[in-house]
Amino acid sequence: MGGTMLAGHFHGQSVRDESLYRQREQASAYLRNLELGLASITDFNEGLAAHVTTSQPLDRRSFDGYIAIREAFAPQPGLQSVVYLTGGREGQRPAPASHAPTGRHPGVGSTDRLQADHMLHAVSTGTAVDQAIPASQAAMRDAAGSGTTIALPYSDASGTTMLAIFTPVYAPAGPSTPMGDDGGVLGFVRSTFVLDETIRHALGRPFDRALDLEIQDAGMGGRLLYDDDGVRRAGQQESLLAAFTVEFAGRRWQAQFFHKASGASAWEAGEGLVLLSGLLLSGLLALAAHQVGLRLRRPYTHTVFAQNLHKAFKHHPFAVYYLDLQRRFVNVNEKALTEFGLSRAELLGTRSEALIAPEFRDLGRRHWEAALQGTAASYDTVLQAPDGRRFDVNVVLVPMMSGGIVAGVLGIVENITERKRQAQALQRSRRTLQSIVDNLPQEVFWKDIERRVVGCNRNFAQFLGLDEARIIGCTDEELCARQAQIDPARIDEYREEDRRVLERGEAVVGAEMLVRRRDGSTFWARTSKLPLRDAEGRITGLLGVSEDITERKLNELKLEQLANHDSLTDLPNRAFFLLQLERTLAVAPERLAVVYFDIDRFKSINDTWGHDIGDQVIRAFARRVRRLLRPSDVLGRLGGDEFVFFSEGLSRREVEGICERLVAAVRRPIRVDRNRVLQISTSVGVAFHRPGMTADELLREADQAMYRVKASGRDGLHVAQG
Ligand code: GH3
Ligand code: MG
Repeated sequence: MGGTMLAGHFHGQSVRDESLYRQREQASAYLRNLELGLASITDFNEGLAAHVTTSQPLDRRSFDGYIAIREAFAPQPGLQSVVYLTGGREGQRPAPASHAPTGRHPGVGSTDRLQADHMLHAVSTGTAVDQAIPASQAAMRDAAGSGTTIALPYSDASGTTMLAIFTPVYAPAGPSTPMGDDGGVLGFVRSTFVLDETIRHALGRPFDRALDLEIQDAGMGGRLLYDDDGVRRAGQQESLLAAFTVEFAGRRWQAQFFHKASGASAWEAGEGLVLLSGLLLSGLLALAAHQVGLRLRRPYTHTVFAQNLHKAFKHHPFAVYYLDLQRRFVNVNEKALTEFGLSRAELLGTRSEALIAPEFRDLGRRHWEAALQGTAASYDTVLQAPDGRRFDVNVVLVPMMSGGIVAGVLGIVENITERKRQAQALQRSRRTLQSIVDNLPQEVFWKDIERRVVGCNRNFAQFLGLDEARIIGCTDEELCARQAQIDPARIDEYREEDRRVLERGEAVVGAEMLVRRRDGSTFWARTSKLPLRDAEGRITGLLGVSEDITERKLNELKLEQLANHDSLTDLPNRAFFLLQLERTLAVAPERLAVVYFDIDRFKSINDTWGHDIGDQVIRAFARRVRRLLRPSDVLGRLGGDEFVFFSEGLSRREVEGICERLVAAVRRPIRVDRNRVLQISTSVGVAFHRPGMTADELLREADQAMYRVKASGRDGLHVAQG
């Protein structure tokens, strides 16, 4: 419909200096404001027309709705709006509202079919439209003929330039209904305003003193509609700064900005003075405003508010609409049209319920009725466009009050289909993830930065012996206090691990720990903890995975035992003995003795009694030696009938004493195979550690000492003289 359009160009003059350029910029900014200001008046007029169109028959409530719209959206003060409805059409004559203040308003003559013979509603009074009746009727005809808003400039009795805009009001079914030559036009909404005020209002104050704005009506022989300072400059090429064409409500205007000859130099020379006087002026205004109780300011604030509200309505990213008390669309913004895929003509007058998916209509009705009682509501529902598309929306209904009663309802619809789809997808993927995690054989948990459990899998909950609900939000200490299956002796270690991960970002990988259960039994746990980070890389928590590795651990220990020990005697084998000796030497022991010994003439035992008896003898020999030693002494079987032990912290004398007891103990008869008794002996060589000696050297020295005994008759002891 008839909005405004700004087509601008700078006039031929070249940009001579920066201040000229700045003024042109300013001029074009002023024009843009003017365009917006005029557009909001047009929108307003059209909104009222739409409301009247959908409010037949007019009753008290729809009249109040009309006032509510006006109050909510009137773009500027001083704007006066009247609705004219024509009569004379069978079945179309609207019933006058009972309280319609017909008596107080001047009627309009009755010579034309389209002429208003009923003025049912006048929102404001005191218009000077009578002065312009013939021109008004022409404008109304134009508006009816074109179906758009038509503007009409005229002068009132005092010579003030006024502007009237006319928007046709259609029969409820909309302009498409064939109603005759006039296209079903029932009447008009006419808004009038003082052009000077509108322009000043749109341009904002203070207006640049160096600029003079003149507006001419291009369609009326260049009639001057507006002149900022009353000094006519039209046609003065030398002082023209910029010229624009403004199209507005069926009219073309020529807007020109001129330099004021005196003002220009004053402006350029005395910017500071202008600024100062501006400051003084605003100071005086503030004082005056204070003295008159802010009366000066209020209309301004109100206007800014109303204008912004209007813009908010128009440009709101959600669908915004106004419903009359019959729940029909009276006004809708652009977004509502695109959202529902309907034209303005299709949507206006439609009941909003028609757009709700059938199964959600009861819900919608309940909220609608609450809104009619004055209660604002917000709820989620499903809409269904005429083409069958369905979308999830959040609806906010706000009752619009006028004079204490609900006059209409403002609706705001946010399409949440995508958000809801994303939320559902997120929930689905969460569920999938949770079921994967639940089916892992490990215990899985994740904690926040404060070491509180945020989530866990079924195994973790089962292991702790608590419901998931009682686990979430707890630290290990709190879980312990809730009698969860946590070893109190390990709490400090757990906390230390958590800190490493959360504070230093290190991963704890496969930490193995022997843990005691509440019933006293123990098991081996292997735990890994990894830091969890957000998109910026900040640590937000940790992920823990723990498993019971008792069985594996036992197998490992068994394997280790097999690898390191001799199967006949269970004593450390040669390699393991040497390893332990080397480890001990590595920490530089004060006193260390290595004792090497071998069974005398063992071959003959094997030869005489057989290998099995030989084995029993070796086992009995090993047991006997082990009993003579301290637990800290390390005894090993080097192979065959050769054995060795090392002993720390003993004097030479003490070592020799032990070796003497060893030789004596071995001599005692050994019972094998029930009643068979054997007697053996052993040769013992001793070496004492001296700084710098290696394990091999020690072993060799002890071996050599032993051979001295073998050589000198066996069954005895020799100490190497290092
Ligand atoms: P010597 O006094 O010089 O040590 O005489 P010996 O007969 O003990 O000679 P030597 O120590 O060299 O011989 C050890 C014998 O032990 C050789 C081997 O047949 C036997 N032997 C080695 N390992 C085993 C075993 O695991 N079981 C049995 N039954 N005999 C073994
Ligand atoms: Mg031997």
